[in-house]
Amino acid sequence: MPAVASRPRASEATRLAKRAWKLLHLDSARAIASADQALALAQARQDETGEGWARLARGFHLLYFARPRDAEPELSRALTLFEAHGDRAGQVLARTGLARGLWREGRFDESLAAALALRDEGLKVLRGEQRGVLLNTIAGCYSARNESEHAFAYMYQALRDANPGRGNGFDAVLHCNLAHELLQLGDYSLALEHVDAGIARSAGAGNARLLCVLRVNRVICLTELGRARETLPDIAAVLAVPADPHGRGSLAPAFETLAIAALQAGALALGRDLVNQALAVERENIPDEHLELALAVALLAEHDGHPASALAQLEAACRDAEAAPAGASLRLLCAVNERLSRLQEAAGDTTAALRTLRRCHALTGQRASIASRARYQAAALQTELLKLRLELDEKDAERRASERAQAELEATNRELSHKIEEVQTLQAALLQHATRDALTGLYNRRYMNEMLPALWAAARRDERPMSVAILDLDHFKQVNDELGHDAGDRLLAAFGRLLAASLRRSDVACRYGGEEFCVLMPGTEAAAARRKLARLLERWRVQAPLQLGSGGGPGTSFSAGVADTRGADASAHALLQRADRELLSAKREGRNQVRVAAAQDATTG
Ligand code: GH3
Ligand code: MG
Ligand code: MG
Repeated sequence: MPAVASRPRASEATRLAKRAWKLLHLDSARAIASADQALALAQARQDETGEGWARLARGFHLLYFARPRDAEPELSRALTLFEAHGDRAGQVLARTGLARGLWREGRFDESLAAALALRDEGLKVLRGEQRGVLLNTIAGCYSARNESEHAFAYMYQALRDANPGRGNGFDAVLHCNLAHELLQLGDYSLALEHVDAGIARSAGAGNARLLCVLRVNRVICLTELGRARETLPDIAAVLAVPADPHGRGSLAPAFETLAIAALQAGALALGRDLVNQALAVERENIPDEHLELALAVALLAEHDGHPASALAQLEAACRDAEAAPAGASLRLLCAVNERLSRLQEAAGDTTAALRTLRRCHALTGQRASIASRARYQAAALQTELLKLRLELDEKDAERRASERAQAELEATNRELSHKIEEVQTLQAALLQHATRDALTGLYNRRYMNEMLPALWAAARRDERPMSVAILDLDHFKQVNDELGHDAGDRLLAAFGRLLAASLRRSDVACRYGGEEFCVLMPGTEAAAARRKLARLLERWRVQAPLQLGSGGGPGTSFSAGVADTRGADASAHALLQRADRELLSAKREGRNQVRVAAAQDATTG
């Protein structure tokens, strides 16, 4: 027995589910289809591990495309199954999903506590992208708590662990996250670069939701850089994505963010429409979303000439943000306070304006200090992403090169099989050449010399008759002399065709030389052979003149001598000689006739 037990093979459902998992960032529609298939299969086969992995993939898909409370039952069920079967990796991942759900509900502290509790076990039992998912969740929590330094560090580790060299679309996710983090720190230009890199990376993949998130981030970058007018194509692109699993899912596409950009760009009607859509969205308690919504509503009120209403809106938002257990992002707090101080100043309340401005400065200072602490981690992450991009580009080039090599191989194969065919055709032609006469298509003399002794021996052994006939066209030389050699050739070919058409399959007809032919007729006695040749002679006398365009004469008849095996010839050659003698006497007797050697000929001679 081997000392090392081999790992049990994963069930088909598990394999399908894990493929779904790998497709989550690459092709969400195929991912969910694969997960559903895995679930059906697992349930049909009562494969609980497979069911766990299928539900896990579905749960994460729902986290991305639906509300946390839609994902929760799937993830909880997966967790129960993994617990029952002692699947530690599954358990950590299901719990990671549940922690991510808390984060999506704005419960950042609880989410971080839950995710951090998984870290040590996760580092032990998870590998590759699974580990990346846990670490990325922790990074998201830190990001939400304005702890960019930690966020970058975990993102960095996630990137290294996710083995994105194999792709799976994870690098685009990280470009997106990195851009988001840089936005929080106020580095909008660099954030924009990463957004564009992420958009480029995910352009070919089937993940419309990620592309949406990237575009929303692009809108934020451009708006913060004072280039709101340039956001309109991105806004249109985001709004064009359908709300289904092939698109952005049932998530609202950050209407409030788009509304701010549209209003800053002076697109009032679009801005108003987006504000109304944002107000209609049923949302979780995410402080940033509330701040952005308040800002959008205030901007619209200002445009509509109601600065007092705008001011009230922003003051309330600031109060709420301070009271919220989980903090809002420094970027939005800065943006809202800055706007508020301007409104307060315009309203003549300079004291309040100054107080707000001071708060603004404090926030900016906080941002700057976080930024300086996070800078090293951010730079490391960027370097890693750059390396990754080069690696992926190299892999792409390799793939293309191997595709080219494959195509070359196929072409060589095609050429080779073409050559083989050619050789086979050539061989067949050679064989034909070796046994056939080119002019008449009949067998040649060499073939006849091989066949005659064999057929003669077989006939003797089986005590069956066989006839041999030699035919010679009469006065053929004159055809050549009078009508030309070509006409002679055509006549020979015509005679060959007639001969072939008149004989049995078992008969062997050959051109013996010049205008002389030899026919071997196994199973035929001389008398029958003679009758057959007489009929042939009649036909030839009709056909040959037609062929020559003459009224008979040279070449339009033949003389033949026949002998069969009933004579006691000592050899096949002797049989042939007897037939030849009969041919000579046919010629002597006036041609245009068939003569048969008498059986006693041989016995006496
Ligand atoms: P006979 O009735 O006595 O057989 O007279 P013949 O003219 O047929 O016989 P002869 O042996 O005198 O002449 C045979 C001629 O057949 C001579 C030769 O030029 C011609 N011949 C042989 N092979 C070919 C061929 O392949 N093509 C053509 N056109 N003529 C050929
Ligand atoms: Mg002749
Ligand atoms: Mg002859």
